Amino acid sequence: MTWQANILTLFPEMFPGPLGLSLAGRALREGRWGLRAMDIRGFATDRHRTVDDTPFGGGAGMVMRPDVLDAACAAAVAESPAAPLVYLTPRGRLLDQALVRDLAAGPGVVLLCGRYEGVDQRVIEARGMVEVSAGDVVLSGGEPAALLLLDACVRLLPGVMGAAASAEEESHGTEGLLEYPHYTRPAEWQGRAVPPVLLSGHHAEVARWRRTEAEAATRARRPDLWDRHLRRRAESHEPAE
Ligand code: SAM
Repeated sequence: MTWQANILTLFPEMFPGPLGLSLAGRALREGRWGLRAMDIRGFATDRHRTVDDTPFGGGAGMVMRPDVLDAACAAAVAESPAAPLVYLTPRGRLLDQALVRDLAAGPGVVLLCGRYEGVDQRVIEARGMVEVSAGDVVLSGGEPAALLLLDACVRLLPGVMGAAASAEEESHGTEGLLEYPHYTRPAEWQGRAVPPVLLSGHHAEVARWRRTEAEAATRARRPDLWDRHLRRRAESHEPAE
């Protein structure tokens, strides 16, 4: 079965956008995944095709109506009944590679992109939506977050990346480390030399150097990831270096 992404959005023309190019675009044309952007406005019932209203309790901005969104969700879920329904929101759990791996291993995803001040809470609860945030930032709409999530999932689908890259070794892989730094030709550039070990041809030494660099980068840049890595290592009784 093809991994299917159904997007609920007020801006269907934003899709596939960048996902129509490069790796994801080729995979889309090859039928390795499917994409359907559904216009939420098509589920409004009044002649002005209204999708939002003022917030109860007052305050700035507009809120997306639960009745319109529920009808849109019903249509998307009917097409992908087994896929999780994800609402992209800064109030959600942070997107990370573990969640991306889970989603990519499933049948696909239904993504609800909010606009305005967001979505009526009742439809989130009634539909059992999984709330996911693209980061601790506020975007003007869920669409860029949806593109981000889809890009991360699609590259993990079978046959998309090919042999060129390994999802195991890169940042946020199974060990939870950041990746080591990369170098290519020329071997010296603007007075900066490539670390000599990388020119040595000793595979074991290269692997050891990369591991040390990955650990040092994680420790220095992301103490949160480093702590988690150490905890996991302790749990698996692997001796610390
Ligand atoms: N009032 C909301 C709040 O303070 O949490 C922000 C609303 S935002 C202007 C409009 C829409 O953009 C949201 O409903 C959500 O769908 C999307 N959005 C904004 N930031 C996001 C983020 N960090 N991750 C995922 N979606 C986001």
